[in-house]
Amino acid sequence: MDTRISCTIDLDGDGFRRGFLVVPHSRDDSAWGSIRVPITVARGGPGPTVLLTAGIHGDEYEGPIALMRLADQLERVRGRVILLPTANHPAVLAATRTSPIDRLNMNRVFPGRADGTVTETLAHYVLDHLVARADAVIDLHSGGRTLDFVPSVVMHDLPDPDRHARTRVALLAFGAPLALVLTELDAAGMLDTAVEEQGRLFLSTELGGGGTARPGAIAMALRGLRNVLRHLGVLQGEPEPPERPSRLVHTPDGCFTVAAHAGMVEPLLGLGEAVAAGQPLARVHFFEDIGRAPVTYTAVRDGLLYARHFPGLVKRGDCLAVVACDL
Ligand code: CA
Repeated sequence: MDTRISCTIDLDGDGFRRGFLVVPHSRDDSAWGSIRVPITVARGGPGPTVLLTAGIHGDEYEGPIALMRLADQLERVRGRVILLPTANHPAVLAATRTSPIDRLNMNRVFPGRADGTVTETLAHYVLDHLVARADAVIDLHSGGRTLDFVPSVVMHDLPDPDRHARTRVALLAFGAPLALVLTELDAAGMLDTAVEEQGRLFLSTELGGGGTARPGAIAMALRGLRNVLRHLGVLQGEPEPPERPSRLVHTPDGCFTVAAHAGMVEPLLGLGEAVAAGQPLARVHFFEDIGRAPVTYTAVRDGLLYARHFPGLVKRGDCLAVVACDL
């Protein structure tokens, strides 16, 4: 089977169009129902195609808002921009990271399945019908309800030197204050991996989190997206240089602090603050065991506090903090 999903607009002709991906979804409250995922395309003659996605996790808001804002501003493009602001639309409707229909994390099911569940079918369509048309993909993320990040643009540490160099130029063209070269904890099933395996240019972001959106991060994302579109020749002009060059960081072994205790988190550092190895990052309090001493988690490396657990309570195995180190 090719796909069960249909698209209400032509993705290949010149012009600006808004429409929907239609995913059949027969269910208790809608017998012949469907899920309609908004999609926008702008095309102006020959040139590269850039696919912009957000909302692969349904509790992240900066990316979808930046893409909706960008769609309103896209006038003359050379080539094509495809925008999918709420890729996992059922998850966005439910304000949850995973889909309420099949409980799948869309960024762990790529390459997806044409005859799979709703999330797998959507992932398959994104890869086989949208990525397949694209020369470059930017997938906007943030921390969602459980993490918070210093707003940043992200690339993977790619083994091929030419692709690494080409991606790094695009990363710096984005012009974020912080640019991360990341080694994933668990890269299987990610859109990132699927796009990179096809040799296409891939960038991501972490734009904040906490299950909300903040103005500075959305402005940074919009400026960065326009800069990369200029860098690729889809928008006219040169990328706007940032006030100061992006600070390049990475996350070698020891940068991720995982909670070994459940309890109440006392953050000891703010996001973006400088950290020295051995410095306390957070304290976990045992609020049910009165009198028991709290446990302090310390940094293993020098750098800056890049991400932190957001909710006030932490469980064993949660990501408590991430330190990023200068490259
Ligand atoms: Ca995410």
